[in-house]
Amino acid sequence: MTLSQTEKKIIQSAIRDIKDFPQPGIVFKDITTLLNNKEAYGVLMNHLYQRYKSLHLDYIAGIDARGFIFGAALAQMLGIGFVPIRKKGKLPYTTISQKYSLEYGVDEIEVHIDAFGKEKGAKVLVIDDLIATGGTASAAATLVNQTGAECVECCFIIGLSFLDGIKNLKEITNVYSVIEVN
Ligand code: AMP
Repeated sequence: MTLSQTEKKIIQSAIRDIKDFPQPGIVFKDITTLLNNKEAYGVLMNHLYQRYKSLHLDYIAGIDARGFIFGAALAQMLGIGFVPIRKKGKLPYTTISQKYSLEYGVDEIEVHIDAFGKEKGAKVLVIDDLIATGGTASAAATLVNQTGAECVECCFIIGLSFLDGIKNLKEITNVYSVIEVN
């Protein structure tokens, strides 16, 4: 299901650019102005629903923290479960974890070991607001596959295509960005 140019414009113009946040040289894509814009948020969520309604997904996994907002709403629309992929130390039950590189140092994300049910092979869509270097999403897709489920696609509201994140992630799974920023 493709997005019309009008719909794309509505979503794109609702995302606010904040220069030099959280550090000089970064243009932060602020999606809070999309969330409080009922028309833009509605157009986006309807588009995601149309795209994924026929894929027979079993779960949506949202990446901490902005992936929770889109992921939980989409899971409800699709009538399936939602699973949070969290930063290390936040989940209370037994987890499996995956480390990934940041510009300086490493970070780690986790998921509950039983989050995708007892049966192997649950079909999972991973969602986050934005892909930059792809480190977080690659770790999330790997984590999903390590539980015995299958990451069928990673979905982002914004893809920064001037970085290699999308290209690298495509080696692990399918990738879809609603808006691409060059
Ligand atoms: P990465 O692992 O480099 O792909 O970074 C993706 C994560 O960092 C996502 O969870 C984003 O929310 C956040 N992020 C990275 N760069 C930006 C940016 N320019 N604007 C907003 N969020 C960003």
